[in-house]
Formats: sequence, structure tokens, C-alpha cells
Amino acid sequence: MNTSIATLLEHKGGAVKSVPSGISVADAVKEMNRQKIGCMLVIDGEKLVGIFTERDVLTRVVAADLDPKGTTVARVMTANVLTVGPETSVQKMMEIFTEKRCRHMPVEKDERIVGLISIGDVSRWVASAHRAEAESLRQYISGDLSS
Ligand code: AMP
Repeated sequence: MNTSIATLLEHKGGAVKSVPSGISVADAVKEMNRQKIGCMLVIDGEKLVGIFTERDVLTRVVAADLDPKGTTVARVMTANVLTVGPETSVQKMMEIFTEKRCRHMPVEKDERIVGLISIGDVSRWVASAHRAEAESLRQYISGDLSS
């Protein structure tokens, strides 16, 4: 759990999907579905201006009865984006996701976005770390490991 999210990004890669804020919700959702992702960073020029997730589609578009074709992402995104540094530990990341009640976090280094970590990335990593630990304990108990 002390592993940094930089390590997770080494495996996942730093590519981040984004849309401009003037795009319609309908087009942003099409792109999210095409890419099979639940979140888009909203970037104008080079500036991170917001984050738009499937939760926003449900709560701010569908529940608010807005027309996805006639509504821009700018209107329904979260403008105040939280980010973390790559040195953040997996443990800390789980605490942040729980405390902030969100499932996506852009990773920022030297004022540049270097990746995006989702709650799914973190839980996959934790599950595989637990599997590796269990396997090594099994080997130890059955005497396959020398001390
Ligand atoms: P999520 O659970 O990630 O789908 O998002 C839940 C809510 O939090 C949505 O309104 C998102 O726009 C918002 N949100 C998600 N990630 C972040 C973030 N890193 N910073 C700020 N808001 C976020």
C-alpha cells in the first residue's frame, strides 16, 4: 500500500482522454462509450478546466432533464478539479477516493497532467498485491521458500 501511483501509471500508461468544454454532452458520451471509459478531462487549449464523468450524466443531465445534444460539457462538468502528485501512495489514494466520494483523479507533475488514476486501477492493483502476498505465504508455509 506504500507503492506510489507513479508505479501504477508505469503499467497503465499516461495517456489521458479529454474533450474541449464546448463539446455537447451527447458527443462527449459517444466518445466515452467508444473509448469504454467513465470519465473525460475537460481541456481547453492546454488548460485543465474541468472533469466530466458518467455520474454527471446521471445527476446533472438525465435527472435535470437537460437535452444532451443541446447542453455543453462546460455547463455540467465539475470545474474545481482535484489532482494528486505521482508520489501519492496507493493507501492515500484509497482514502482520498473515499473521503471525496469520487472515482477518478488526474495526476499532475510540474503543472502537467501525466495520467489519470481511477478507483478501478487502484482496486485491481490491491487485488493483485493481495494475490501475490497470499501465494508467497502459501509457498512459505508449504516449505517451498528457503526461510
Ligand atoms: P465519479 O465518482 O468519479 O464518477 O465522480 C463523482 C462526482 O465527482 C462527479 O460530479 C465528478 O465530476 C466529480 N469528480 C470526479 N473526479 C473528480 C476530481 N478528480 N476532482 C473534482 N471532481 C471530481
